[in-house]
Amino acid sequence: MRIVLVGPPGAGKGTQAAILSEKLGVPHISTGDLFRANIGEGTPLGIEAKSYIDAGNLVPDDVTVRMVESRLAEDDAKPGFLLDGFPRTTAQADELARILADLGVELDAVVQFDVSEDVVVERMLARGRADDNEEVIRNRMQVYAKETAPLLDYYSDKIVKIAAEGTVEDINERTMAALGK
Ligand code: ADP
Repeated sequence: MRIVLVGPPGAGKGTQAAILSEKLGVPHISTGDLFRANIGEGTPLGIEAKSYIDAGNLVPDDVTVRMVESRLAEDDAKPGFLLDGFPRTTAQADELARILADLGVELDAVVQFDVSEDVVVERMLARGRADDNEEVIRNRMQVYAKETAPLLDYYSDKIVKIAAEGTVEDINERTMAALGK
């Protein structure tokens, strides 16, 4: 299956993606994880991305799209993938459409994790990642509302909406059921 996961920061996309990836047998491709790996290794891409991530802003589309395009070209992504954190803007969604058309494949579903703002702030503060302080979190929420939420309309014909509050297991079961698995 070819799936995109959408939801505000702290919605639990990464947690759910790890479980779904195993159950569905497709790789979990997280742009946040790819950026953090590049930052950890000190690559030019990581050095460029770091200042944006630390401020809670989006990394520029050209850098992000190139990174995703090369990841999707790898062999393990041929049978399917779970994209977590990409696209995050309608411009990125247009780029994804182009990449998939070039590969001759289509998305099966866009899974939306629906969760209240109180819960996401609580989860992020508990997780304590470097970009999880209150000011940066607030900026990421604003960026989500302005840049990413329009994807819900963009993908209206493919959206599968999941109530994403509750236990990790419950949310996973709801998602599998909604995907017909
Ligand atoms: P979260 O789900 O909590 O927002 P992520 O790990 O998905 O965390 O993303 C962390 C940061 O990486 C984002 O705040 C942003 O700076 C950058 N990032 C991730 N995906 C993208 C993307 N598709 N476009 C631009 N920047 C991105």
